[in-house]
Amino acid sequence: MSEGVKVKIGLEIHVQITSLKTKLFCSCPSDYRGKPPNTNVCPVCLGLPGALPVVNKQAIHEALKVALALNSQVSKLLVFTRKHYFYPDLPKNYQISQYDGVGSLPIAKGGYVKIESNSSIKVVRIRRINIEEDPGRIIYPTGSMATSPYTLIDYNRSGVALLEIVTEPDIESPREARMFIDKLTSILEHLGVTNPDLEGAIRVDANVSIEGAERVEIKNIGSPKEVEKALLYEIARQAAIIKSGGRVSRETRHWDKTRGITISSRAKELEEDYRYFPDPDLPPIPITEELIEKVRKSLPELPDDRISRFMKEYKLSRYLAHVIVIRSKALADAFENIVRKCNNADIIASILVNEFLRWVDELDLTVEEGLRRLTADRMCKLVKYLKEKKLSSKLLKDYIKRIISENIDPDDLITKGYTSIMDLDYLSKVVEEVFKENPKAVEDAKRNPKAINYLVGQVMKKTKGRADPQITYELITRRLRENGSQHPK
Ligand code: ADP
Ligand code: MG
Ligand code: ZN
Repeated sequence: MSEGVKVKIGLEIHVQITSLKTKLFCSCPSDYRGKPPNTNVCPVCLGLPGALPVVNKQAIHEALKVALALNSQVSKLLVFTRKHYFYPDLPKNYQISQYDGVGSLPIAKGGYVKIESNSSIKVVRIRRINIEEDPGRIIYPTGSMATSPYTLIDYNRSGVALLEIVTEPDIESPREARMFIDKLTSILEHLGVTNPDLEGAIRVDANVSIEGAERVEIKNIGSPKEVEKALLYEIARQAAIIKSGGRVSRETRHWDKTRGITISSRAKELEEDYRYFPDPDLPPIPITEELIEKVRKSLPELPDDRISRFMKEYKLSRYLAHVIVIRSKALADAFENIVRKCNNADIIASILVNEFLRWVDELDLTVEEGLRRLTADRMCKLVKYLKEKKLSSKLLKDYIKRIISENIDPDDLITKGYTSIMDLDYLSKVVEEVFKENPKAVEDAKRNPKAINYLVGQVMKKTKGRADPQITYELITRRLRENGSQHPK
């Protein structure tokens, strides 16, 4: 049991700057995904002797955007550092990175991100932001290092520009860790720095310790949801060790998501193992005030401001505004686009949050895939039919489900006669039938108003969900009253 234990979590988040056309130090395309192995390479990103790196200016610009958006202090000098380690994914045997130590410094330090935890605002401090190159990709033909007879290596990703964003250990629960990543991702998306839907665009190392234990680093977790799960597991593991009188050792573990456990991979390297020193191929570049001001002026509206604007401009609750903006920029953009077309912001926001996202999650679609089915055009038709009372709010739920799972137009459903029934005579007849067939439920309903729902449900069943729930409810309560006075107890 791990309830009540004090937990400290610090995250190191690696973000691919997907907005760049080329890699960090060469002119190879940064879009490596789906290409045949080792075709997206050149002497620089293969680390061939004599090849020299040239820094991608746009990468600096993108990093500055992030630094300013996270309220960080930008360095006056851009210094790249060699981080040495010997591994097949790293052809130079060092990674060009940045380092917060003697003779070096990261592009930015400090800053913070605000998250909403249990309806109060919490500040998570940023420790530093680095620019660095991605290593290549190691592929185990059978899927795991232990069982593969040989290893393949693909350098297509080698040299792609990453930002490493490191937090202070201010995060106090797995849920907060997930909220932090969601918030940070939303900021990066609004900045246009990364596309989080791309496979591997955001990778997280999660450091966690509980009171009385050394910290453990869980490497390379692929999604906020998996970060939450990995941390829950790891906290429970550490708590169990301490409870049984053992010691948690400082180590690196990795998250096995199919088995849902963390596995020890190696003892933690120490800083001196990396033999950091400034890269002599890349002389320091001054970061001028003018450049910083230019970037500051180019910053777009960020999530916090957008949430406030949604509350003011569209009169949304804080909850709805928060979910729409943080869940995905595409969703927030779609919301504004739909409202521009057919107003009714309150209805649209509640459909998106309560129905749309529910089915997107249930069917494991991305928000974008969902929006290609529930288009602005279709949304506006739904709003219209709702207003015309062709659809009850209950039937609307069915429509959303079918539009998202079957990609059909609401008009196809409407023309098939799948509209709500509000015909009083017809519904009265159905109610009469239901009363006859369920005498016991009718007696119950007279005494217990909750039992009325059962009768409403029976009417729904007979009309295949099309009876207008409000009218049905009224017809049933009226009939119960009449019934009651005819047969007094
Ligand atoms: P390293 O270079 O060894 O990975 P860093 O100084 O870069 O160490 O810190 C890595 C991360 O570990 C940071 O996000 C930091 O917040 C986090 N961290 C530091 N101390 C603790 C701790 N006691 N428990 C959990 N996380 C911690
Ligand atoms: Mg680290
Ligand atoms: Zn290259």
